Amino acid sequence: MVRKNPLRLLILGAHPDDAEYHAGGLATLYRQLGHVVKMVSVTDGSAGHHDCKPKKLATIRRQEARASAAVIGAESDVWEYPDGHLLATLEVRHRIIREIRSFRPDLVLTHRTNDYHPDHRAVGQAVQDASFLVRVPRVVPDAPVLQRDPVVAFMPDLFTKPNPLTADVVVDITSHIDTVVSMLACHCSQMFEWLPWLEGVLDQVPEDKGQRFAWLRRWYIDKIRIRADRYRPELVAACGSSRGKRIELVEVYEGSEYGSPLNAVTRKQLFGFLDR
Ligand SMILES: [Zn+2]
Repeated sequence: MVRKNPLRLLILGAHPDDAEYHAGGLATLYRQLGHVVKMVSVTDGSAGHHDCKPKKLATIRRQEARASAAVIGAESDVWEYPDGHLLATLEVRHRIIREIRSFRPDLVLTHRTNDYHPDHRAVGQAVQDASFLVRVPRVVPDAPVLQRDPVVAFMPDLFTKPNPLTADVVVDITSHIDTVVSMLACHCSQMFEWLPWLEGVLDQVPEDKGQRFAWLRRWYIDKIRIRADRYRPELVAACGSSRGKRIELVEVYEGSEYGSPLNAVTRKQLFGFLDR
């Protein structure tokens, strides 16, 4: 679908599978409506395996990210910062400012800074550090500032301290779950090797491709199902009582106070398709 003046969604995750895992449903919806989506991994993903050597793994993960993005026709980029070693440095901040100014997103998604993984926290911090400075011409002066600054929002997580994510936007992803799982399935080194190894269930991963997909689908749904129950009041408010009570698979987003505001106007522009 070719669209005049498409919206531009930039997802800045720490690892090559973060965009899909946390925001794959919204990315799918954006692409289905003809909008432009780019998924960036700030690290190279080279620490995410129990067996594969880092250099080889970085190459594999770049290919996996590209294959996953191709499922929905998104752009993909994997930066070279070493996985597991990321800090919110000036260099990372400036790279993010440069990325935002060159991609010109309407919406930027990233991690919150209270998250279990230090790389996630570092990306969330660096994006927030960039959110105001992206408007300052004297910072990264060779990359011209934008006419209009993006809305920045945080991807769903389940952490509660010091506070849980506020669901400013709820997205029903039930009918897109197979697409999201298809994307995740491209990350073989993670979904069928590293994460099952971490959880001690590597011996339960089926060999057969079809069975693997069904296994991953169950695994992923088990992981994200809790979101709908936690944000049930917001779902009911957004979708009405009968539908809101039934929805099982959602993504929720919290607007950052540091980008353009997520207000009635930008909400309609960026998420208006949810109000049908
Ligand atoms: Zn991650």
